[in-house]
Amino acid sequence: MTSAAPSTGEIGPRAIASSPALARVERGRLCTGCGLCAAIAPAAITMAMTPPGYLRPRQSAPLTPPQESAIAASCPALVIDERGLTAPVDDALWGRAHFIGTGHATDAALRHQASSGGVISALLVHALETGLVAFVVQTGADPLLPMANVTTASTTAAEVFASAGSRYTASAPLADLETWLTRPGRFAFVGKPCDVSALRAHARTDPRVDAKVPLMLAFFCAGIPSAAGTGRILERLGVVAKDVATFRYRGDGWPGFATATLNDGSSHRMSYADSWGDILSKEVQFRCKICPDAIGNAADIACADAWIGDERGYPSFAEQDGRSLVMARSTAGLALLDDARNTGRVETAPLAIDQIALMQPAQARRKKEILARLAAMAVTGRPRPHYHGLQLWQAAARGTPRQHARSFAGLVRRLLQGRA
Ligand SMILES: Cc1cc2nc3c(=O)[nH]c(=O)nc-3n(C[C@H](O)[C@H](O)[C@H](O)COP(=O)(O)OP(=O)(O)OC[C@H]3O[C@@H](n4cnc5c(N)ncnc54)[C@H](O)[C@@H]3O)c2cc1C
Ligand code: SF4
Ligand code: SF4
Repeated sequence: MTSAAPSTGEIGPRAIASSPALARVERGRLCTGCGLCAAIAPAAITMAMTPPGYLRPRQSAPLTPPQESAIAASCPALVIDERGLTAPVDDALWGRAHFIGTGHATDAALRHQASSGGVISALLVHALETGLVAFVVQTGADPLLPMANVTTASTTAAEVFASAGSRYTASAPLADLETWLTRPGRFAFVGKPCDVSALRAHARTDPRVDAKVPLMLAFFCAGIPSAAGTGRILERLGVVAKDVATFRYRGDGWPGFATATLNDGSSHRMSYADSWGDILSKEVQFRCKICPDAIGNAADIACADAWIGDERGYPSFAEQDGRSLVMARSTAGLALLDDARNTGRVETAPLAIDQIALMQPAQARRKKEILARLAAMAVTGRPRPHYHGLQLWQAAARGTPRQHARSFAGLVRRLLQGRA
């Protein structure tokens, strides 16, 4: 196996002035913003904020051929390959699992602070305190721009607590991968499902990943909204960005409120139904609409909101004690979950797989419609990512012909009108 660690050698005569891989990504508007390409070629690629507020790679120097190949092999805008990931359960909509349940952190303060039941944070604290890892690479609020994200390395329970909660704006947690791979000690990685897929793919060419990262955690993901979406929240709250001291998207309850706390100490908030439902969900980047694994199938453990359906079968966003959906997807994930349960760090109750669709109807719908959307991209001549091992045909078979026709026609129309 050859290492795809950033090349420190000379850029030779075969230097690639403009990356064909990145050009294809840009042509198809396929970038997820994960940052892996910047980690593979740090002297040539940086992540930059682009309108309307997504993180995108910017190439400023030539790439070496190995860097170009490494990007082409693991960029999640170009390829998601989950062949070979196995478990006793392997469902077309919900992925692989050794355990499926609902649960929460037993630390009441952490459960309240976190996005849903705080299971991700509780497992991270457990992994730190048992010595499984020396640090955790995760995403938190940028102290200089509280609406934005930074990638941080947490080494204590207090630092994990500070980064608990969902942040519905761009994050590129792989951009500094080289820093984390060269720092002493093993680490846990938390990311969006596409970040985790990219890291798993990168492990195939960089053996340091498997040696250094014994634990990858993901959350179910409806997509990354633009920073412009956050701006619209502030506008509706009647708040100016420069006055904001801290900003949280949710958490501090379940689902909690989008809350801007100003320098003068006042705080302004909006319900999750309004912030996500009315604003952020309409600002999601294109790649997320054709995401074949938004459920963290490549992760060791994936968590989500275990929403409780109302009388019409729609998830209720009424405030209550946080509850996570927990899927242990690998033997390593199951071992960590078992250990955290045995020491009383988390509590879980088993859940039948057919109950997940009641908690996550949007994820079920999206997976069923991926093939129809890819077909829409094909007929309009758009570049598409290559997807392998994702059971897309089986998922489509669980949809209806009418659903596929609507999804196909809707995307063809939007692509032709330039509105996708
Ligand atoms: C962009 C986005 C989309 C989401 N879509 C869904 C969805 O479709 N369905 C659903 O059920 N839930 C969704 N969530 C919420 C997420 O599923 C819950 O956070 C999950 O239930 C885990 O809850 P928890 O209490 O265990 O997590 P916590 O203990 O609060 O931990 C959350 C972890 O996520 C990390 N994190 C937060 N924001 C980001 C980010 N932008 N990028 C990378 N890492 C981040 C934090 O660092 C932390 O480690 C989404 C969250 C985000 C950020
Ligand atoms: S998806 Fe990730 S690796 Fe691919 S171009 Fe975007 S930032 Fe780079
Ligand atoms: S929906 Fe998919 S592509 Fe979009 S951010 Fe989430 S995991 Fe990544």
